[in-house]
Amino acid sequence: MTDTLTPVLTDNWDQERSWTLEAYESRGGYGALRKALGMAPDAIIEEVKESGLRGRGGAGFPTGMKWGFIPQDNPRPKYLVVNADESEPGTCKDIPLMMATPHTLLEGVIISSYAIRANKAFIYIRGEVLHVIRRVQKAVQEAYLAGHLGKDIHGSGYDLDVVVHAGAGAYICGEETALLEGLEGRRGQPRLRPPFPAVAGLYASPTVINNVESIASVPSIIEHGHGWFAGLGTEKSKGYGIFSLSGHVTNPGQFEAPLGITLRELLELAGGVREGHELKFWTPGGSSTPLLTAEHLDVPLDFEAIGAAGSMLGTRALQIFDDTTCVVRAVLRWTEFYKHESCGKCTPCREGTWWLVQTLAALERGEGSEADLELLLDQCDNILGRAFCALGDGATSPITSSIQYFRQEYLDHLSHGGCPFDPAASTVFS
Ligand code: NAD
Repeated sequence: MTDTLTPVLTDNWDQERSWTLEAYESRGGYGALRKALGMAPDAIIEEVKESGLRGRGGAGFPTGMKWGFIPQDNPRPKYLVVNADESEPGTCKDIPLMMATPHTLLEGVIISSYAIRANKAFIYIRGEVLHVIRRVQKAVQEAYLAGHLGKDIHGSGYDLDVVVHAGAGAYICGEETALLEGLEGRRGQPRLRPPFPAVAGLYASPTVINNVESIASVPSIIEHGHGWFAGLGTEKSKGYGIFSLSGHVTNPGQFEAPLGITLRELLELAGGVREGHELKFWTPGGSSTPLLTAEHLDVPLDFEAIGAAGSMLGTRALQIFDDTTCVVRAVLRWTEFYKHESCGKCTPCREGTWWLVQTLAALERGEGSEADLELLLDQCDNILGRAFCALGDGATSPITSSIQYFRQEYLDHLSHGGCPFDPAASTVFS
């Protein structure tokens, strides 16, 4: 089974001091940058378009197409902003990537900025992870000293400065326009789109915002060519990605594989669900993506197939829950998170997530009646598609999908007068 893995970004994570410039260059690091600087910027955009790379932050928007939206006749400066505010529950791929090989990200930042003709790039890292911020800052410093950043990079005439910005730890700042607000020094709340940031983003200038993993994938595309990348994955979900397995799994961790691999294959690589237990439910891409169950073990983990199964690929944060987990409690915990993180800008999300928690908590305590399940679905209905940004929609996903698959478990709470599960048996959400 191990030949299913395609370690590219994760290839050198176990190399000694893999995060240093010396280690990165010892395995050919910054070779793609030298190659890119010899190419025309538009040729790089074309290469990324042809590769089929789709955003790895969750939404899967075609990266090259996004770069192509940058109006080059606009006289304002262009910016690249890396969204390193990873905070979707269960999502844990960008932080290890930045810790293990920050220069992969930086090389991607320089190539991508050159492609879109930006002379300034920002890496927005969530504020709680100070160690990551320090590591990326150190890598930026090393890159300046080596001439990979700054003026006239490698004699190409191209200048680039990179700023590492620490967020303040708000989930909403992972939403790209709220991130821009934060970067501009304002309270993190989403902006109306359109205009999309590609047209009017940071300081109202054309801005490309991409996830860490998307940008870190660019050097490999330049190095090996779009055909190599497009040859991996499925027809519409090309390339490889990092799949993060957590929860009730024997060997949790990061598994880099072509898109289209199945959870059954990944679980085999990860030693299976913890011994003596069965898979009950899982998230394909963090808690904002509708739950799936054991019947979906063979669904290819690509944007299309997971969508057809009623969920979303999202961030490939595969949280695994076994038969000891109370789905109602798990969903309540996620909903409390969304309520806490709601930025308050729009009523459906601000008030709605509060009501969701009230209704869910009562059901979890075994209070109320079956009609409260309908009330809960009605509350979800009043948020879905009515909130200002994707946070509100995301909050409803675990609720509606858990009722779809585990309605009886909700009813069992009512007939049991509380949670029928032993909280000590489950190592998560207990
Ligand atoms: P979206 O589909 O609205 O946009 C995706 C990207 O494409 C954005 O950068 C947007 O600017 C761009 N885009 C879309 N249409 C465009 C157009 N017509 N012109 C120019 N650019 C365009 O998705 P979103 O609301 O930005 O993000 C939602 C996703 O975020 C969810 O799928 C979820 O999985 C993910 N998410 C990730 C995390 C995390 O920690 N990584 C956290 C929460 C949510």
